[in-house]
Amino acid sequence: MTVISAAGVAERLARVRAEIDAAARAAGRTDPVELVAVTKTFGPDAVRPALEAGQRLVGENRVQEARAKWPALREEFDVELHLLGPLQTNKAKDAVALFDVIQSVDREKCAVAIAKAADAAGKMPRCLVQVNVGREPQKAGVAPGETVAFVERCRALGLPVEGLMAIPPVDEPPGPHFAALAELAARCGVATSMGMSADFEEAIAHGARWVRVGSAIFGARSPGEAPPAG
Ligand SMILES: *Cc1c(COP(=O)(O)O)cnc(C)c1O
Repeated sequence: MTVISAAGVAERLARVRAEIDAAARAAGRTDPVELVAVTKTFGPDAVRPALEAGQRLVGENRVQEARAKWPALREEFDVELHLLGPLQTNKAKDAVALFDVIQSVDREKCAVAIAKAADAAGKMPRCLVQVNVGREPQKAGVAPGETVAFVERCRALGLPVEGLMAIPPVDEPPGPHFAALAELAARCGVATSMGMSADFEEAIAHGARWVRVGSAIFGARSPGEAPPAG
């Protein structure tokens, strides 16, 4: 893992924000584009400069890692914490306690577990449904053809579904996948979470409400450390 200085993180964050603004302007967007800074694998010292620079939306892949990292930082910083990785149903209680937004609702069992945990906690996270937009067998997410029905099912369980999230196949141009996700989201009446370090500008051109950017801000993660959710 490359270690980037505090000043470096702040500078890279400022550059990403400027690129987001430029991409939104170029696309004629007047609706909000929100940056989720993906902090998985990075410790409090790496994350702190981004928070000090005013970053508020942060994303983690794993419940356990988030539980170890965020309660202390949250005493100092008012963040909105997003879960981006697959949720095991036995961690639903912790996830509901910790996260403001769960972007990875990807199957019936997961939706039911969140509903149950939220009921017990008296606290319901905002939710996004993850779509396996490239129909990849190893990847999480509902099939594109099942998305509309699954969103309805989530809503029937009481989950406030605000968007669809996807990670397009790494070896294909993302544009057609972003377009497909945007079309599905329009049919569900919700927004999209799409675009990472390599392609957030293109995602913004396709209407992304949330972009999820990690390495462009915090530096490269070592191979094998928290690969994108799948
Ligand atoms: C790691 C991760 C990201 C950020 O990826 P970068 O390429 O580092 O920007 C975004 N979304 C999800 C679901 C991830 O797991």
